[in-house]
Amino acid sequence: MGKPAPARGAAAIPLFDAVSTDAGAPPSRPRSGAAPRAGHPAPADPGRAALALEAHARLCAAYHCPIAYFHALPPLDELVSSLLSHRTRNADSARAFRSLRERFPSWEAARDAPVAEVERALAGVTWPEAKAPALQRTLRAITEVRGGRLDLDHLAGMEPEAARAWLAALPGVGPKTAAAVLSFSALRGRALPVDSHHHRVAQRIGLIPRSLAVGPSHAVLEALLPADWTAQQVYDHHEVFMLHGQRCCIFRAPACGRCVLLDLCPEGQARRNGAARDAAPPAPPPEPGL
Ligand code: SF4
Repeated sequence: MGKPAPARGAAAIPLFDAVSTDAGAPPSRPRSGAAPRAGHPAPADPGRAALALEAHARLCAAYHCPIAYFHALPPLDELVSSLLSHRTRNADSARAFRSLRERFPSWEAARDAPVAEVERALAGVTWPEAKAPALQRTLRAITEVRGGRLDLDHLAGMEPEAARAWLAALPGVGPKTAAAVLSFSALRGRALPVDSHHHRVAQRIGLIPRSLAVGPSHAVLEALLPADWTAQQVYDHHEVFMLHGQRCCIFRAPACGRCVLLDLCPEGQARRNGAARDAAPPAPPPEPGL
């Protein structure tokens, strides 16, 4: 996910269908050097937690943590931006976001406009005919739940898990979008988004099983991180895994020979020993409502 874009995300039609199965279940996390706090039991797999920390340390050294936040949008703007970015190039979703802002003086105006107008503003993103009504559904749902207000300012006063659950209860908001709103927006909350690059690296080094999809991987991967990490550290963790997936552990031809995780990575070892598949595996199927 590139820095200049106002949103990042990956999901597919059917758009914005809520995926609440994992988002509503608070992940368990280890608290480094301290007893687990209520609701955050000790890690079920300390070996994977240690692997996550070692990979984090190496990748942070390689990509120079702390990583600067790429913008500080209000949380509702971040939500809209994230929804537009599903399965869309960053440049295109950024252009569509700007177009929405230029065409409509407020999110209330976008919510209440004829859907065809919103769809025209979204020209350039994938599936504008689906994203326009889905976006309006989400905006209407927020207005209804907020008693007539269309903003997400109340999230600033909520605990991260409560805020995450609140967001994930909205139509079309899954675990990745909820985490993106909390982490990338001006809220600067403690939440771990997982995009396809992050997910691929986590699978290859063995943090999560191959069978675990992006959506449910959010809770599993966040549970591996120390509970006393700051929002910046959690953000860094996502960023460095994402960057590594973009620059080294790429989908079809990972550059294992120059990877700082090679000695930790079963996939890299297998490839090095010639045991990896000759052909790249098929791309994973898209998941709705991320
Ligand atoms: S060793 Fe290869 S497969 Fe493993 S993380 Fe590095 S680039 Fe990816």
